[in-house]
Amino acid sequence: MASAIPPQSHVPGPNTKVIHHGENFAPDSGCVMPPLFQTSTFVHGNQAGFDYTRSGNPNFRILESVLASLEGCKYSTVFGSGVSAITAVVSSLKAGDLVLCEENLYGCTVRLFEQVFSRFGIKTTWVDFTNMNSLADIQEKKPAMIWLESPTNPLLKIIDIKKICDVANEQQIPVVVDNTFATALIQRPLELGATLSLTSTTKYINGHSDALGGSLCTNDPEWNSKMLFAQKSLGLQPSPFDCWLITRGIKTLPLRLERQISSASYLANQLTEHPAVNWVRYPFHPDHPQQKTALKQMKTGGAIITTNVKGDLSKTYQLCKSLKYFTMAESLGGVESLVCHPGSMTHASVPLAIKKRIGIDDSLIRFSVGCEDLSDLTEDLTNALNQVL
Ligand SMILES: *Cc1c(COP(=O)(O)O)cnc(C)c1O
Repeated sequence: MASAIPPQSHVPGPNTKVIHHGENFAPDSGCVMPPLFQTSTFVHGNQAGFDYTRSGNPNFRILESVLASLEGCKYSTVFGSGVSAITAVVSSLKAGDLVLCEENLYGCTVRLFEQVFSRFGIKTTWVDFTNMNSLADIQEKKPAMIWLESPTNPLLKIIDIKKICDVANEQQIPVVVDNTFATALIQRPLELGATLSLTSTTKYINGHSDALGGSLCTNDPEWNSKMLFAQKSLGLQPSPFDCWLITRGIKTLPLRLERQISSASYLANQLTEHPAVNWVRYPFHPDHPQQKTALKQMKTGGAIITTNVKGDLSKTYQLCKSLKYFTMAESLGGVESLVCHPGSMTHASVPLAIKKRIGIDDSLIRFSVGCEDLSDLTEDLTNALNQVL
C-alpha cells in the first residue's frame, strides 16, 4: 500500500507557501498568527530597522515574504491598491517617455495613462499584442516600457508573454505584466522574462472583498529599490490592517482557486451550449483564439468567463440584475460570484471608439465565478438566461 505521506522535496508547495511566512516579528509572544502592527512610527534605532509606516511596517514585510515566495522571486513590494502599484511603476518614468501598452487593459489603467500620466508628459501607444506586428513596433518605437495584461480584462485575450519579453529584453526595455486575473498560482510572468509582475491583491489574493491592495514582484534589485522609493515618497503604502487581512486571505488562495477554476470551466461549457449566448470566451476553451498560448503559459484557464449574449443593452443589463448568486458589482476574484457589465461599469471611462475597436459592446458580460455550490450557480445562470433572453 502506498504511504499516505508524500516524499519530502526541498521546495514547499503553494499551499504550504501561503500558510507559512518567514517572520511574525513578535516571537517572544508565542503567537502563531502574526499580530497587527497598528502603529505609524517606531522607536529610533530599533533592531528590525523600521522607522515610519509609510516606508515599511512588519505587516508589509510579512505579506511581501508570502507574495515573493508564491511568485518564486526575490522581491515584492506592497501598495495600497493595484492602482497605487501602477502609479509606483509609472512614477519611475520621466516626461517624454513612451509606454507601449496592450490596447485591452483594465479600464482604470487606461484612465490613468490617458487622463493623468499624459499630463506629466508620459506618452502611450496602444497596440494589439496578439498581433505579431507588435514585435516590429517594439523595435521601431523604442518605448521606455512595455505594459501587458494577460488574460486581459474583460475580453480574456491571451498575450504571448515570453515572445514579447524576448524581443524587449534584447533591447533592455522593461516589461510590466499585470497578472491580477491569473495570479502567480496560474502564471509566472517573471519566469517568462518580465521585469515586473503587478497584481491587484484586492482580487484573488485577498479573496474576500474586504480590503484593497497591490503588489509588485521582481528579481531586479534596482527595480526593487525604485518600488520601495515610490512606496514611501509618493505615499502609496497600504495600511497595516489591510496587509494583515490579505495575509489571512491568501492562506486559502490555492483552495479557493481550485474550486473556482473547476466551476468556471464547467460553467463556460454550459454557457456555450445555451441558445441565448452568442459566444463564450474562456482561456482553455478550444474556440479561444489564443488557446495555444494559454495552454503554454498558464497552468489552468482561471475563473473568469466573458460572454456575449443575444440581447440589447436593456436585456443584458436585466440579465445581470436578475441573477441571484452572481451579484452585479465591480471587482472579481472573491469567494462570492460576481457579474459585471463592462460597457457601463469597469470600462465605462474607456472612449467609445476604443471600446468598439477592441470588442466591448452592450451585450458583453463578465462573470467572476466564486466558491458557492456549483449546482446553485448553474441553476442561477440557466434560469436567468431562460427568463430574460
Ligand atoms: C482591479 C484591477 C486593478 C486595480 O486594482 P485596485 O486594487 O482596484 O486598485 C488593476 N488591474 C487589474 C487587471 C484589475 O482587475
